[in-house]
Amino acid sequence: MKTLAAVVTEIGKPLSLMELDIEDPRDDEILVRIVASGVCHTDLVVQAGMLPVPLPVTLGHEGAGVVEKIGSKVSKVKPGDHVVLSFNSCGSCESCIEKEPAYCYEFMARNFGAVREDGSTSLSNDNSPVHGNFFGQSSFATFSLCRELNIVKVSKDVDLSLLGPLGCGILTGAGAVINALPVKERSSFLVFGTGSVGLSSVMAAKMQGATTIIAVDLNDDRLEMALELGATHAFNPNKTTNLIEKIIELTTHGVMSALDTTGLPDVIRDAVLCLAPRGTCGILGACPPDFEIELNELHFFTGGRKLIGIVEGSAYPDTLIPKLINYFEEGLFPFDRLIKFYDFENINQAIEDSEKGRTIKAIVRM
Ligand SMILES: [Zn+2]
Ligand SMILES: [Zn+2]
Repeated sequence: MKTLAAVVTEIGKPLSLMELDIEDPRDDEILVRIVASGVCHTDLVVQAGMLPVPLPVTLGHEGAGVVEKIGSKVSKVKPGDHVVLSFNSCGSCESCIEKEPAYCYEFMARNFGAVREDGSTSLSNDNSPVHGNFFGQSSFATFSLCRELNIVKVSKDVDLSLLGPLGCGILTGAGAVINALPVKERSSFLVFGTGSVGLSSVMAAKMQGATTIIAVDLNDDRLEMALELGATHAFNPNKTTNLIEKIIELTTHGVMSALDTTGLPDVIRDAVLCLAPRGTCGILGACPPDFEIELNELHFFTGGRKLIGIVEGSAYPDTLIPKLINYFEEGLFPFDRLIKFYDFENINQAIEDSEKGRTIKAIVRM
């Protein structure tokens, strides 16, 4: 079968739209006709060569679509089902068995390897292999092969073209607050970075009943959006003196939960310095492999503070994605406000607008 795919042929270069061959689904695979795919920061990081992936490769890992064809061993979905594709996992390591697939022991290989377990690729161009299976999906294409482990059936009542980012970016921000951090009623929450992940965390913190929600970003428009979505305070560090002292003063002893979405060591240090005793800071930004974090040891240990890594919002996608869709339908989680649609052929524009911060969450429609 043919699929129209956006292919990275060279690091740092625009994607090329190419007609490729896609294999028929194997026994455990599912062929999905992609309706739309979100553009996630991780796609940009990989395209820029900051995280190594074999080339040529089709990226994309926030796919939403309709099941076209299933392998003989697939029972979770059937042709015609509406589905969201999420991150990949092995299904059999200790984390996967305990329903923590984001911490799968094979997370890097399964999501960034861009091949099947046996090393084969499902895509090819004139018989020469093109890497697919990025996050078990490679959704920047009109068709995608995935497996039961990373497919979630969703309601047909919701506009399918909106839902792809629930598979990664929006799941990450909301899940960090709902699953990983102690954000509860009347608590305080601080987020550094108000891109799609940060703004999703703000909406989730409001849903969790946090009464002090502080957003920090260099972009005033994003801060305005954060205030509209539930933040109670917003700060631009370029226009604020003594930011850390101000945040601590606002919350009397510091915040109970902080989230860094930037991946910048200095920002992470500041986020930890804003924590109250026993507060927790989560970090989730994808940054170059040689980045190291420095903390003030005395401040960190005397307050019993915690710093935790959070992948994919610690989500079990089969549970969290339908839950977020319900919140959206109830009007509690208006993530559609972050979205701008592009035609698939304009994917390079979508990527450029995302990089430059002109678009919060880009979705390409196939
Ligand atoms: Zn696993
Ligand atoms: Zn992502």
